[in-house]
Formats: sequence, structure tokens, C-alpha cells
Amino acid sequence: MSALTHLECALCGKHYPARQPWNLCVDCGRPLWVRYDLKEVARQFTKPELSQRPATMWRYRELLPVDAHTDIVSLGETMTPLLEAPRLAAQFGLSNLFIKDESRLPTGSFKARGMALAVTMAKSFGLSTLAAPTAGNAGGALAAYAARAGLQAWIFMPEDSPAINQKECALAGARAFAVNGLIDDCGRLVREGASAMGWFDFSTLKEPYRIEGKKTMGLELAEQCDWVLPDWIFYPTGGGTGLLGMWKAFEELAAIGWLRGSKRPRIVACQSDGCAPIVRAWDAGERFAKRFENARTIASGLRVPQAVGDFMILDALRASDGVAVAVAESEIPGWMSLGNSEEGIAVCPETAVCLGALHRLVGQGRIGREDRVVIFNTGAVHKYPEAIGATLPRIDLREPVDWEKLARRGA
Ligand SMILES: *Cc1c(COP(=O)(O)O)cnc(C)c1O
Ligand SMILES: [Zn+2]
Repeated sequence: MSALTHLECALCGKHYPARQPWNLCVDCGRPLWVRYDLKEVARQFTKPELSQRPATMWRYRELLPVDAHTDIVSLGETMTPLLEAPRLAAQFGLSNLFIKDESRLPTGSFKARGMALAVTMAKSFGLSTLAAPTAGNAGGALAAYAARAGLQAWIFMPEDSPAINQKECALAGARAFAVNGLIDDCGRLVREGASAMGWFDFSTLKEPYRIEGKKTMGLELAEQCDWVLPDWIFYPTGGGTGLLGMWKAFEELAAIGWLRGSKRPRIVACQSDGCAPIVRAWDAGERFAKRFENARTIASGLRVPQAVGDFMILDALRASDGVAVAVAESEIPGWMSLGNSEEGIAVCPETAVCLGALHRLVGQGRIGREDRVVIFNTGAVHKYPEAIGATLPRIDLREPVDWEKLARRGA
């Protein structure tokens, strides 16, 4: 049996029974945390046992709402590497910079972790039709996992979402629609459709289990760091499930006594100044974030003008002694090229924002040269052909090659 005990409203604290589907708190309309009997987890789960298990996110099942008998919906959610980035570190004057590369997960982003678990739970509850708005990658992941589970997915995304995201949803057989609005407009369609058509609302944080899947990023990071957490984590922040899942992982690992040392990382929530509701609320010292009007960014995963978990993100930043940083939209292509060209890592536009934020904080003297810094590369740059400016110089085979000219022009 999983040590899952109940769900708990993140704002008002109301409890809900586990093992049945829930959306938001019925009293206050805010998200629910998934809670476990952590004393029981501490008794059942040991590091030697963990070390014997396959390198997938399911190796942490004692800290997940599944047990040995759950029918897990999986596409092979491999552990992702924590890559040292010495060349990039030198660019920033640091000596301990790492990139946790989520780009190789199924469907090319960390959204796979959340959807693998959320779809597993939905299937176990007997739900058949899942509906979600998406800025892009969450839709691709939902479409794939719903197909894998034999469930139906209804997906609504802004019509200017990356073409790949639109095509991957269609290809995986989802009922996908391109909407002339933003993700919160798509969210309204899902809400209305859910009541008109009986879909289960699978929006970010409106079902409690996506956070739990994304929590495995933090569990993995801790294990890869031999249970001594880094000094800083830079995380591109949209709806916030990744950041929240990671923070929850650290709290739960501390509660079961697995962390060495009491230090928690300082978390940096990174956004583009084209859509920075969390940064604006952070700078104003507020607990809730206002909708960010006219949101525009090529980092499509960050184009979330209003997040239902705003206060959870802001609370986590305060608890971690972290900060929220907005980077100029115009700088994103440059940071994206730097990440890709210095290390060969498929740094996506969202993670490019993290490089800009790191540059800023190093420049302000807030990060020590020896500090251990981890940046999450949340997705594969290959999913963003529109955001890659590079075009190759052309060779015309009808003419003789001019080698000197070619040597000057190589891409
Ligand atoms: C969704 C997404 C984000 C933002 O993640 P949240 O957990 O919603 O804050 C960042 N990067 C990529 C590539 C994404 O797809
Ligand atoms: Zn509540």
C-alpha cells in the first residue's frame, strides 16, 4: 500500500479523502497538495533498496501515490543526467555549474513526468476523457500518455503555440484545437467543456498529481547529489508545477531524514519580461499575482499570464530564500545559442531565460564563485524550430567550390 493519506488545500487547509478524483478545493478554488504518512515512508523506504531499482522516476514509488500493484502508464521515464557544464561555468565565472537535462524524456520535455503520473492516476480512477489547456508541451505529453493509456484527450492551445506542439497532439490522436487566445482563455474552454461534456479537467494544478510526478525531478537531483542539495536552483517558471514539485520533494526528503545537512537550495524562478506575473508579484512583495496582460514570449512554456498556484510559488520562493527574476525577451535567442554552442546541450528558450537570470545574479555579486548551481533544461530545443534563427549558408553544386570563401562563411 502506498503511504498516501489524503489531499490538503494549499490555501485553506481543508482535507479531502485520497483514492478518488478531485480538482480544486471546493471551498476556496485553490489547488490540493497530496499528503503521505511520512513516518510510514521512512519505515518502508531505504537507500540501499532504492539503489537496486531501475533508473526511472518510478524508483521513488514510496513517495508517490502508487504502489507495487498500480497499472503504471509509462513511456520509459528515464532518470535524466546531471551534466557538469564547465565551459558555460567559465563564461559566468563560476566553477560548479550543472545542467539537469530533462530534454530526453518522452515527448522531449519534463512535462512527461507530470503526465505519466497524472494519467496513471486518472486511469486508476476509471476516468476516460481528460481535457486540458496548454501552452504547448503539456498538451504533447498529455496526448502521448492518453494514447498510451487508451484514454481520450481534449486539448486546447493558443494558435501561435509552436507548430510541433500542435502537430504532436494531432499525431497522437488527441482532439486538439488551436484557439485565438492565451492559455487562460483555453482554460475557460476546458472549464465550460468539462461541465457541458463531462470531461475531467486536467488543467495544471487543477488535478493534484502532476505536481507529484514532477516532484521526481527533485528526488532525482537529491539522489544524484548524494543527498547534499546544491546552493542554487534556476527554474523556468510558467504554471509552477515543476518548481512546486521540486520544493515538495526537498520537504519530504527532509521529513524522512534522507538529506545530509539542513541546507535547502535557494530557488530562482525565472521568467521572460514578456510574461512575468510571478516576478511582478515578487517585486511588489505580494502573495498573489495579477494577470499579466498582453503576454508575449517565444519561451512558450512560460506564457502563463495567470497561475492558479501563484501563492504556492511565491511562498516556496520565500521559504527557500530565493528570488524571482525577469530576463529581457530580446536576450533569449542569445542565451539559447550560448547554452547550445558552449556545451552541446539542447537548451530550450525557457532555459535560456535561466541563463540570463544567472548572468544577472552573478553580476550583482549574489552568487559565490564556488557555489553549486543547477539549471534545469526543461525541454529539448528541437521542439522550437520557430525560435531558432540560424539558417545555413548555401552551397550551389552548379558552381565550383571556392574554398577560401567557404572557410570564411561556415555556419
Ligand atoms: C511547461 C514548461 C515550463 C514551465 O513549467 P511549469 O512547471 O509550468 O512552471 C518550462 N519549460 C518548458 C520547456 C515547459 O514545457
Ligand atoms: Zn481551500
